[in-house]
Amino acid sequence: SMRLSNTVKTLKPSATIAAATKAKELKAQGVKVFEFTLGEPDFTTPEHICEAARQAIADGETHYTPAAGIPKLKQAICDNYQREYGLSYEPSQVVVSNGAKHSIHNVLTALCGPGDEVIIPTPYWVSYSALVELTGATPVLVPTTQESGFCLSAEQFENAITEKTRLLMLNNPCNPTGAAYPVATLEALAKVAVEKQIPVLSDEIYEKLIYDGAEFRSFASFGEDVKDLTIIVSGVSKAYAMTGWRIGWTLAPVDVTKAMSNLQSQQTSNPCSISQFAAIEALNGPQECVGEMLEKFKERRKYVLDRLNKIPGLSFATPGGAFYAFFDVSSYFGKPLLGGVTVDNATDFCTALLEQAQVGLVTGDAFGAPGYVRLSFATDLETLEQGLNQLEKFLKG
Ligand code: PLP
Repeated sequence: SMRLSNTVKTLKPSATIAAATKAKELKAQGVKVFEFTLGEPDFTTPEHICEAARQAIADGETHYTPAAGIPKLKQAICDNYQREYGLSYEPSQVVVSNGAKHSIHNVLTALCGPGDEVIIPTPYWVSYSALVELTGATPVLVPTTQESGFCLSAEQFENAITEKTRLLMLNNPCNPTGAAYPVATLEALAKVAVEKQIPVLSDEIYEKLIYDGAEFRSFASFGEDVKDLTIIVSGVSKAYAMTGWRIGWTLAPVDVTKAMSNLQSQQTSNPCSISQFAAIEALNGPQECVGEMLEKFKERRKYVLDRLNKIPGLSFATPGGAFYAFFDVSSYFGKPLLGGVTVDNATDFCTALLEQAQVGLVTGDAFGAPGYVRLSFATDLETLEQGLNQLEKFLKG
């Protein structure tokens, strides 16, 4: 057989995708599964956005585009940041990519290599460490606590910085914890970044999914010196229910943007032309759809948190954003669960939960958070109700 490269030899498949695959296998066997693994809205993409894509096909917009995206989309992205956050960016600071995940890969490839360190607060999105390792750099995991709402403090950030530090990866609001960073915490982190001149990748893909008085502030909004050190990553996947279209972007200083654009031109040529036209409509078209989906998420979040609150022995930090409940199940380790099984870690907990009660959650072990599990509430209320009934039954043993 062929010899695999060192780069891919140790690469693991995305744990969230692996968990979803397991649930799908059960489903394919005809089993009713309550699926809360995948981080994607269950809504279909709003009709006016789909129509823009159909129109793009009809107009023959089916060719290669500039590597970093078509000018009209770059302008729409800049207009969006001006309108939403009062942030001024030029199209020369935008790279449109095949989803925010690809954007993150571009940033890391542009900034990091062997010998470099990248600071990642945990719990963290599964792909962060894997993508850092792909560049040969070393992820430096800094644990945050439930008591702090799973937010990295300025002091923790400062203490993690060494001569080798090249980047902080911040995810606000956070997957898997739902943490929405308080403005004061962001401000303090920004101060350290400027003092120590550490660039910050700010993954703001859940920026429009904010709940209950939590406030979203872009990391780039704390002054020009902070903006110069910030690379914003975002996209249309979560807010516009467009996960399959694969459009994400970066906003960065011009030189970094140029490097990422070069990289992309060699790597993928450009993101899908039709999806780019859909993304223009998402950003420039009517925004009511975002609010309507947010209302649904609010309802589901409230339902899920109310239910989890009533189950003895579970604990969590109230999520201020995104669409995940992230809770500690470790008080159930070593106790008989449904079917008499016992488990002593979150991974076995999730396996047993799927097998015994047909509920799919993702283990916190995948996010650097032993003892925790993640439930995505981007699914309808009825499924949530039935799934939580099953979870309760499972825990009662
Ligand atoms: N960043 C975070 C924190 C995410 O949770 C996700 C998707 O799950 C992404 C980035 C990737 O988004 P996209 O689907 O646009 O690649």
